[in-house]
Amino acid sequence: MVGQGKNYQRKIGGFMKIAVIGAGYVGLVTGTCFAEMGNSVVCIDIDKEKVKKMEKGSMPIYEPGLEDIFQRNIKEGRLSFSHDINDVKKSGVVFLALPTPPGENGSADLSYVLAVAEQLGSILNNYAVIVDKSTVPVGTAKLVSSYVGKNSKKKFDVVSNPEFLREGQAVEDFLRPERIVLGTSSPRAEKIMRKLYEPFVKRDPGKIIVTDEASAEMIKYAANGFLATKIGYINQIANLCEKVGADINSVRMGIGSDSRIGSQFLYAGPGYGGSCFPKDTQALAHIASNSGYDFTIIKSVIEANNRQKEVITHKVLDYFHNNIKGRNFALWGLAFKDNTDDVRESPAITIAKSILKNGGSVAAFDPQANETAKKQFSKKDKIKFSDNMYSVLEDVDALVIATNWREFSEPNFKKMRSAMRGDVIFDGRNLYSLDTVAKEKFNYVSIGRRALLNA
Ligand code: NAD
Repeated sequence: MVGQGKNYQRKIGGFMKIAVIGAGYVGLVTGTCFAEMGNSVVCIDIDKEKVKKMEKGSMPIYEPGLEDIFQRNIKEGRLSFSHDINDVKKSGVVFLALPTPPGENGSADLSYVLAVAEQLGSILNNYAVIVDKSTVPVGTAKLVSSYVGKNSKKKFDVVSNPEFLREGQAVEDFLRPERIVLGTSSPRAEKIMRKLYEPFVKRDPGKIIVTDEASAEMIKYAANGFLATKIGYINQIANLCEKVGADINSVRMGIGSDSRIGSQFLYAGPGYGGSCFPKDTQALAHIASNSGYDFTIIKSVIEANNRQKEVITHKVLDYFHNNIKGRNFALWGLAFKDNTDDVRESPAITIAKSILKNGGSVAAFDPQANETAKKQFSKKDKIKFSDNMYSVLEDVDALVIATNWREFSEPNFKKMRSAMRGDVIFDGRNLYSLDTVAKEKFNYVSIGRRALLNA
């Protein structure tokens, strides 16, 4: 373990010793933010390279605002790293922030969580609260409890504490949460968890919602299922707008101002991606079918989203009369959304692969995700990566915008025009007003709006 300097004992007085197992997008934010509140935190990860990097003070992920507090807490001796699970030993609270990827049938794969749970029992030498932060199906808290219990000689409780942070805004979401859900039937564990979260909800302790374990587990899936449905719905309304001659932006403003609907998550686009919505909707459908319930809405949302990820490619193929062999495309954006380097299930990757499959070549630029995206392609693929949003445009027939990074919103159109061979933009994020692109004499194909085709 490193990072526990001389100040260590002094700093942790009155605070808790915490372990976070799994130092990914959720675990690292969780660990760093608890350290920021004065706790002593060890982040444990099986990936030795990642641990080495963090020990050297290097961030393994891009997350705005995290670097500052990461550095500060290492320096002040509250945040340390290890790849040895035995380092959980002295922790009173152990968070599991492990992957729960989709298994073959769409159900959440619990193997990471349960493998760690099985080891914990023989390691913990005092009472501990074991906290499920991973997104896990109903019944997992009980399962984790039985796995820890197999080898445990000490008392412990398992709490379900689903995480609602959004990548790209994770630090803000964690430090100023809208709610904290604690699923537990143990008064002792509840007291400890309330104390741990108290500094985050000082002004409004009512933000802590305590439920039974099953309801806490269901809350996370119900929330993500609902948000995915909202995106799926607006995407399909956008597709319909194109057919009937309506404009999705006007429709969005018209319906989003209704407080029952709300204006968030109403932006039409190339389909949702990321590490959560795709896998959580599948897991929700699986939970339902396992319980003998035909959850038709969520099944439709999954299917609609799979189709939506192909919408931009269809527009490209339509425009080029179904033949893009030998054509060059610039791709702005690889991450599944802005402000992250995460490309898991990113619609941008689907679009790039479809263009390549149809014989086109791709020059891609993402402000943060070039490196993570490279791993998604083989050496044979005709894709190259650039670190400049204008140099990818050189000699391309078309630009495809797949991610809503802020720097793409107000580009230098003149510079774009002079770099590109062609004059068409396919905008999967509806970044520009039709008037602006018309003035700049681009052909412009977006989502849920009239196409401009006579530049
Ligand atoms: P991630 O893949 O970024 O991180 C998981 C980490 O766990 C990796 O660093 C991996 O090396 C490590 N790991 C795997 N096996 C391990 C083991 N045996 N011991 C120690 N470390 C191990 O995943 P994530 O995005 O942080 O997601 C974690 C969980 O949180 C998932 O269940 C996810 O659904 C949920 N979640 C994610 C988000 C999000 O925005 N990413 C938001 C809310 C909830």
